[in-house]
Order: sequence, then structure tokens, then C-alpha cells
Amino acid sequence: MTDLGNDISGVIQADRAHVWHHLMQHKSLETNDPKIIVEGKGMRVWDASGKEHLDAVSGGVWTVNVGYGRTSIANAVRDQLIKMNYFSNSAGSIPGAQFAKKLIEKMPGLSRVYYSNSGSEANEKVFKMVRQIAHRVHGGKKYKILFRERDYHGTTIAALSAGGQGERNAHYGPFTPGFVSVPHCLEYRNQFPDAVDYGVAAANAIEQVILREGADTVGALCLEPITAGGGVITPPDGYWPRVQEICEKYDILLHIDEVVCGVGRTGEWFGYQNYDIKPDFVTMAKGVASGYAAISCTVTTDAVFQMFKDDTDPLGYFRDISTFGGCTAGPVAALENMAIIEREDLLNNTLKMGDRLMENLRALQNKHNVIGDIRGKGLFAGAELVADRKTKEPAGEKMVQAVVAHCMSHGVIIGATNRSVPGFNNTLCLSPALIATSDDIDQITDAIDYALTAVFN
Ligand code: PLP
Repeated sequence: MTDLGNDISGVIQADRAHVWHHLMQHKSLETNDPKIIVEGKGMRVWDASGKEHLDAVSGGVWTVNVGYGRTSIANAVRDQLIKMNYFSNSAGSIPGAQFAKKLIEKMPGLSRVYYSNSGSEANEKVFKMVRQIAHRVHGGKKYKILFRERDYHGTTIAALSAGGQGERNAHYGPFTPGFVSVPHCLEYRNQFPDAVDYGVAAANAIEQVILREGADTVGALCLEPITAGGGVITPPDGYWPRVQEICEKYDILLHIDEVVCGVGRTGEWFGYQNYDIKPDFVTMAKGVASGYAAISCTVTTDAVFQMFKDDTDPLGYFRDISTFGGCTAGPVAALENMAIIEREDLLNNTLKMGDRLMENLRALQNKHNVIGDIRGKGLFAGAELVADRKTKEPAGEKMVQAVVAHCMSHGVIIGATNRSVPGFNNTLCLSPALIATSDDIDQITDAIDYALTAVFN
């Protein structure tokens, strides 16, 4: 544990006076100290009071896939920064080329990597590419981008325009035109009661939107392979094959947002690889370098890339830059991150530990009526809490937050879905690092067990 000596009160003072934290109602910091995390090792972090926490959410938001304290990543970044830290990505870099090659080896059918800094930005690149293709190839048509209720694609205005979570969007409009929502596919919150095959019915609802808007106006469909912050929504069987079919039928580009699922989280390199999907675009960020450096990637096919090579038109190439997409820290960290996953066989561990996590959650569901549904894949799981199993009335937000707080006070950090929208603020979220052991998984689910007992009995 780092020795902060007397300095910690100064840190807390400076934080309280000057830092505007993410997703935080700051009123709470008038009476509570901000939590300052000072050190991490493996699955665990220590706060400024010296308290140890088991991190069941990989840095809070599905990011630190290979765990804390990885000296091999830090050393690779350090060596690279001393040698060559930055040049605009109009020129190439050694790690940029090496990581692109390694990444594409994991993504058959795709061939090009565009670097930027955040998930939002990676998604914005796709939106711009789709719009440019609409102008250049479809005479200005096919500019609309479909997104799904409960999905999230980022915080910038265009990414929010593609955001299916009302609580994130409220008060930030007006939004970018040309983004159109399609229904979510959560079978537990059944929107298609007459469906014979729920997955097919949910996909057919996308087709209905396409027909309503006019297929000649729709350029792309943007989806998370498994909805993350919107409630850990695993798609029902039948959903993805039908979605793929619909995209092909109407010549609609399929954009898969792997910002959460990417780089091992589900036990495959990418979430879409669980479902035999053939995307035209894949975006990724969080787990790409596990938070050791900022990097995001927009990956696409050769067919898309070729559409941007018309040198007879001065506007015929992708006129976009991300300044820090030229930082070498990102790709060099990403290379070592991927090497760690391979060396330590972490995809296999994710599958094994994911099974254990699901088994434990199922046992908790048998014990606690408040767990209405459990969902997930690999080390990515959600437990939806309900006040009544029959009516599926969602558990109150205060109760859900009390479960999170109870776990926290007992040394386990778990997450919950966003607040403010009734019906969807009631899912506990778990995403431990891919290095989790059986003991870690048991400690996480034991903490939830105690918390549910304490809060609901
Ligand atoms: N896409 C998904 C699925 C996300 O969950 C997030 C962030 O949580 C983003 C995109 C945006 O990523 P960033 O915060 O890096 O901009």
C-alpha cells in the first residue's frame, strides 16, 4: 500500500475543491469524503484510508481486463514513450502497425484499424464513415443510423443521438438528426407476447422500423453484441442470425459496438464472435489496453475501406483526424495487453470463471426472491432485482443502491445500471477482471448474498 503520510488530507481537499467527478451528484461530497483509489494489484484496489476492495467491475466500468499492477505493460509503454511518444497518425508508428496486424488476426473478415481515444470517438468515426458513404455512394440517401433502446454508444452529442437510455440523454438535446431507435431484445421484459421465437420477433421489429423509414434511407444499424449499461441484455437465440439476414436484405451496414464486450470480456476475443455475426464495423475501447493507456479502434472491412480511395474526388477520402490517435502509448499497451491474455490463457479462464459466476448467481436466485432474472456471458453478468417476481415490478432504486453500498462496505465493489428510468435501474452489474479465481468469484457472490439478506430481509 502506498504511504501517503500526511498528504492524504491535502489530496482530499484538492479533490473536493477542484475535481468534477464523472456521473456524480456532488452534493453527496459535502458530507462524505471523495473516494480516492491509490493503488491496485491484480483484482484488488486500496483506497486512501488503506481499505482493501475486491474490484468486481474492472475499474468501475468494464475496463481493467487484465487486472492492476501489470509491470510488463508499464515497461513496454515507458520504453516506447522514451523512444517515440507521438507523431500524428498521418504517419505510421511501429506499435500502431504491429497492433493493427495482431488485432486483425483475431477478426477474420475485417482488415483496417482507425485509431482514436475513446469509445464515443470510435463510434463517431463510424457515423461519419456511414454518412460519407451515403453521400458518395447512395446520392445522399442511406444516411440514417438505427440504434436500439437500452444500448449506449457514448457521451458526445452524436453518440448520445444513438443512445437508447433516456436517463443519459435527458436535457442534452436537441440531438443530431437521422438517428432512429429500434426496440430492445430483453425477453424478460417481454415486448412481443405473441412471439413464437422471441429472438426472431425482436429482430423483425428492426425490419419494421426499416420499412417504416424506407430501406433506401437507412445506412447502418449500430448495436452492442450484449447490451452493457442498459441492463446486461444477452440477445435471445434467433436474434443475431435474423439481424444479419435483415442487414444483408436491405444493404445496411452492421456496426457492432464492442466497447464493453471487446478483448476477452465474454470469453471470446469479441462479443460478436459468440453469435457468428459478420460486421462491417467493430468499435472497441475500454479493455483494449485495460486502462493502461487511452486507445480506441474503429475496425472495418476492405470493402468499406475501398470506398474511401477515390482520388478523382478531392473529398473522396476519410477527412478525419484524432490528434491523440497518434500516441504510441495506446497501441503498445494494447499489444502487451493482448499478449498477456494469450500467455495466461485468459479467454479460457473467463469461460470457466464465467460459468462459476453464473452458477453462483443461479444459487442466489434460488435463495433470494428479489432476483428476477440473471443474464450474461463470460465474466460479464447482471442480476435484475424485482420487488415481485410475478409482476416483475422493478426493485426500487434506493434498495438497489443499498445492495451496492453494502457490498462496498464489506470490501467488494459491484455496479448497478443507470439511475432514473423506472424499470431499468435495477440490475446489479458484475465484470471482474479476466484473471479472477474461484475464490474471487465466491467472495463476490458471497458479498451479494449478505447484502441481499441485509437489505431485503
Ligand atoms: N459504447 C459502450 C457500449 C459503452 O458502454 C461506452 C461507455 O461506457 C461507450 C461506448 C463510450 O465509451 P467512452 O466512455 O470511452 O467514450
